[in-house]
Amino acid sequence: MPFSKLKTELDERAAQGLLRRRRTLATPQGVHIAVDGKPYLSFCSNDYLGLANHPKLIEALQQGAQNFGVGSGASHLVSGHFDAHHELEQTLAQFVGKPAALSFSTGYMANLGAVQALVGRGDTVFADKLNHASLNDAMQLSRAEVKRYRHNDVAHLAEMLAQTKSGRKLIITDAVFSMDGDIAPVSELLALCEQNDAWLLIDDAHGFGVLGEGGRGAMSHFKLNSPRIIYMATLGKAAGVAGAFVAAEQVVIDTLLQAARSYIYTTASPPALSVAVLASLKLIREEDWRRERLQQLITQLRAGMRNLPWQLMESSTPVQPLMVGSNEAALSLSEGLRERGIWVPAIRPPTVPQGTARLRITLSAAHEQKDVDELIGTLHELAH
Ligand code: PMP
Repeated sequence: MPFSKLKTELDERAAQGLLRRRRTLATPQGVHIAVDGKPYLSFCSNDYLGLANHPKLIEALQQGAQNFGVGSGASHLVSGHFDAHHELEQTLAQFVGKPAALSFSTGYMANLGAVQALVGRGDTVFADKLNHASLNDAMQLSRAEVKRYRHNDVAHLAEMLAQTKSGRKLIITDAVFSMDGDIAPVSELLALCEQNDAWLLIDDAHGFGVLGEGGRGAMSHFKLNSPRIIYMATLGKAAGVAGAFVAAEQVVIDTLLQAARSYIYTTASPPALSVAVLASLKLIREEDWRRERLQQLITQLRAGMRNLPWQLMESSTPVQPLMVGSNEAALSLSEGLRERGIWVPAIRPPTVPQGTARLRITLSAAHEQKDVDELIGTLHELAH
């Protein structure tokens, strides 16, 4: 059988506790979801602000479909670039404080496109070891030389930069690490860029909408901006819709428009989605209570989890991973929660390093205090 080797590989994955599987939601994304027909309290979406099912976004999407139809029908450079895409790019650039922005269909594509367009053979990409898979794939695709520095280790990065004499230098990092919840030392990274004439690409998938004044993201959080920063964020997490954007100097955006293959060779996303994101941005900007609620929930969760056999990792963001260790133990804890009506999947290698399987608990402004109490109580019950 031509596929027998594939079957063996799948069996091996299963034996190591590494088989991934999907579950089917029958409800909108939210705190209370039905999965495979059963109700659960969920702590695993990236819908940090609770906007994915907001009536104003639903209305905007409907209005967008009325105005622009459903499919965009072509790539942006043919005839698929609509008023709504254009307005969204301008609004996003202004929101994060950059001269220009370019929207992409997904964050994965934004990272692939940006890195591949900006560096190539003879250049060097410096990457944090715990970066998201899309940044890892992007640097491989770019054909630049790749140097990976220890997680958030600025001294290690400085050594590597000092050894690199020629070509363009691009540092790439998650702003908020997707599986760890901690924040990159962006000020120090920018200082290294200044010293070494390098560029800094920050992937703010988990900070946009959550960090900074009015949810403007990581640059606002650190109160810094620089032409050297190429800012990328996604719109399917806190923004509650789909897609992503890169915001940067005009010349960078002009370059991406000419050279980012994942922008050029793909059908533009439905313009109605841009209309929905515009509605979302208004809520992100105006409703500070969502970020305040998140902070309260984070404090409550961290206080309640102190005396457990598993440690919450150091994090001040809505990503609050509970370190377990082995794949089996993480799966079994996740299963224990699931039997008690709580949904927190186990995250295992290769998404995270070997021996660091964890439960990636995420909080949302749509959670209530009693929901977090329930999670804490159930984990204590499982610990005994
Ligand atoms: N970057 C980071 C840090 C992410 O966590 C993700 C999504 N998990 C992406 C990029 C990809 O974004 P998208 O889901 O829009 O493709």
